[in-house]
Order: sequence, then structure tokens, then C-alpha cells
Amino acid sequence: MDLRDSTEDAAFREEVRTWIAENRIGEFAQFGDIGGPGREHEGFEVRQAWEQVLGEAGWTCIGWPPEWGGRGASIAQQVIWNEEYVRASCPARVGVFGEGLLGPTLIAYGTMDQKKRFLEPIRLGRELWCQGYSEPDAGSDLANVRTSAVLDGDEWVVSGQKVWTSLAQWADWCFVLARTDREQKRHKGLSYLLVPMRQNGVQLRPITQLTGTSEFNEVFFDGARTQKDMVVGDVGDGWRVALATLAFERGVGLLGHQVRFSRELDSVIEVARARGANADPVMRQRIAEAWITLFILRMNTLRSLRGLEGPLSTPEASISKLFWSTWHRDLGELAMDVTGLDATVAPAYPYELSELQRLFLFSRADTIYGGSNEIQRNIVAERVLGLAPEPKGTL
Ligand SMILES: Cc1cc2nc3c(=O)[nH]c(=O)nc-3n(C[C@H](O)[C@H](O)[C@H](O)COP(=O)(O)OP(=O)(O)OC[C@H]3O[C@@H](n4cnc5c(N)ncnc54)[C@H](O)[C@@H]3O)c2cc1C
Repeated sequence: MDLRDSTEDAAFREEVRTWIAENRIGEFAQFGDIGGPGREHEGFEVRQAWEQVLGEAGWTCIGWPPEWGGRGASIAQQVIWNEEYVRASCPARVGVFGEGLLGPTLIAYGTMDQKKRFLEPIRLGRELWCQGYSEPDAGSDLANVRTSAVLDGDEWVVSGQKVWTSLAQWADWCFVLARTDREQKRHKGLSYLLVPMRQNGVQLRPITQLTGTSEFNEVFFDGARTQKDMVVGDVGDGWRVALATLAFERGVGLLGHQVRFSRELDSVIEVARARGANADPVMRQRIAEAWITLFILRMNTLRSLRGLEGPLSTPEASISKLFWSTWHRDLGELAMDVTGLDATVAPAYPYELSELQRLFLFSRADTIYGGSNEIQRNIVAERVLGLAPEPKGTL
């Protein structure tokens, strides 16, 4: 399989490079690679302004169909865009939940009114979204969602608690998985609601992470309201819509991540050289292994995405998630080992972390969010290898 750019894709890559070089100017040029995991608080306002510049120029939501303002870009082109964006050290995007998750879900399942109301503000970076799935007793076991929504005239009244809601402090809206039929159990009786965040019935409590920053939150809905027609798909059919959203979570962003991973590995190698850690034969082996595995990861992702015009299939997505998250977590450990004892001390008071310390601490989350490693292994065991399903015992 030839993994090089086609002539058309090479021209697209050039167009992307030129646009970024010509437009990342003025206030945006001062900001390099800011934001992203463990650093979402950095320059949020300027990043949202940048998102709007991208939107006006048609560089957000490029995979969406042209009728909804996208470019109908192929998967290969979306990959190229992500790669070049990260390679040019552009600020981390702020509209990821709207562009990557809710937008495609609305295009597939939303009503015409919902598409007209929400897609354009997402594309132009004017409205930000967060994902209200997980709850204290519904993470891996998402079907256990207890947040409820009850119709009161023309409005749904939402009550319950979500947790780990990333970027909720900046979000205007949340897509919420809620139970609309209490008589039904598990996957049945759930609905997918669009709920405005800026109202009295919604309270946030930021959660401080190991990195000392708070990018996710507890979200409390206490009589929060949303219009009756803010249900995506049918009432009671939320599980199907919620799974579709999760499928969109996988795929094209990954090659952009891999450019970032490669840069992080370069930093680890630089520190290893500076501290003489590369003279240690075991360390040398681990660094070489990290480099080789990242190369395989890239080839494998390219192979899976080539020719694909939608989300990855479930087994491929599980294998990919397991592979990259484990690699990245191991890179964090390698980063600490090459740094030696200094890794245990924050470089500045009170808790200012080095890049590699932040990498180590935040990469612990990679094997949890978007489906933990154990859950991915269950999927591979059951759906790829045909092994017996895990026992669902009751205590
Ligand atoms: C950085 C980060 C950002 C996140 N952002 C969001 C967000 O924006 N919106 C949102 O809704 N959620 C978000 N999440 C939540 C994430 O989806 C959950 O953390 C994840 O689904 C795991 O659920 P849990 O934390 O409740 O752990 P649990 O499900 O309680 O799992 C605890 C442990 O038990 C293991 N386990 C659970 N079930 C099984 C099983 N059947 N077989 C084997 N092992 C099992 C898990 O692998 C894990 O190790 C985020 C999480 C993180 C870390």
C-alpha cells in the first residue's frame, strides 16, 4: 500500500501550509503551541478568537458536507489538515466537542431545525459544547445513567449529576444523556438532549487534576431547562445516538496527535542526551522501542484510515485506542526515568511543572477516557476473538 500523498493531496497539503503561514499573524503569531491536554486554561480567549478566524476562512469542520458549511474533505485531507496544524505549532483547538462529536451527530440524526440552529455557530467558533455522559456511577457502565429529564409543558426539566465534563467551564451548551423514562432500565428509556449551560439550574464544580489544572468538572443539573424539541433522535432512542457520537470520536484527529507525540519523544531524547541517560543500555533500548512503536502506530493509523469515509469500525477503533494510549502512558514514564531524581521536584514554586512532568501526569488519563484499556480489551476479546462474554454477575 502506498502511503504517500496523492498529487491532489500534496497540493492540498501545500494549500494548508500556505494558509497557516499567511494567517497566523498578529496576536496569533505570539502564541505557539498553547492549550491542549493539561493546559486547556492557557490563552483560552485568544484561542477562541483564532477558532473564529479558522471558521471564517473555512478551516473548521472541513469534513462536514458543503451544505452545512464544510468542505466535504476526504479522510486523507482531514488527516493532512490535522498533521499540518500540529506541525505548525498552532494553538490547541477549543471547539473540538462541537466539530468532532455533536456536529456529525446532528448531521446524521438531527432535525432540520436543529441543524440550522446549531451547525453554523459551531463552525464559526461562536458556540462551544461539552459532553455530558459520565456520572459517578456511569462511566464504563454508561447505560447506568441516572440523570433524569421530565417534560413540563414545552420544556424538559433536567436533574442529576455529571462528572469529568471536559471544558464545561467554557461551554455554552452540553449534549446530555438523560433518562426520560424511569420505568425502563439500562439502555432503554434514555434520550439525547441539548441543554444550555448558562442558566440557574446548572452549577459547575471544577475538579483539580494531578497537573494542578482543572479542565474537567462536576456538573449539577438542578431543574435545568431545555426546549421540548431539543432531543436528538427519538425520545427514548438516546443510546443509539450516544453510541454514534462515540464512533465519531475516533479517527482523523489521531494523526495530528501523533505529530505531537513525535515532538514529545524528541524532547525526551533531548533530555536523555543532556543528562547522559542515553549511555545506559536499558534506557537506549526503551527509547529505540518508543520510536519504533510510534512509527508502527503511524503506519497502522494511516492504513486503517485510507479509503475510509466514516468513523473507524469498533474493533479497529478499540485496537487503535489501546495501542496509542498505552504508548503515550509509557512515554510519560520514560520521560520521568530519563530525567532522573529531578523528575520528583517541581521546577518552580508552588507547582509549576516542566513539560515532561506534565506529560507524565496527564498521560495517566489516556488509558481511561474515551473507553478505558480494560473496556477496549473486553471489546477485542468478545467482538474480534469471539471469546466468551465477561460474566455479568450480581452481588
Ligand atoms: C481526561 C478525561 C476527560 C474526560 N472527559 C469527559 C467528558 O468530557 N465527558 C464525559 O462524559 N466523560 C468524560 N470523561 C470520563 C470518561 O469517559 C470515564 O472516566 C471513563 O468512561 C471511565 O469511567 P469511570 O471513570 O467512571 O471509571 P469506572 O468505569 O468506574 O472504571 C474504574 C476502573 O474499573 C475498570 N472497569 C470498569 N468496568 C470494567 C469491566 N467491565 N471490565 C474490566 N474492567 C472494568 C476500568 O477500566 C477502570 O480501570 C473523561 C475522563 C478523563 C480521564
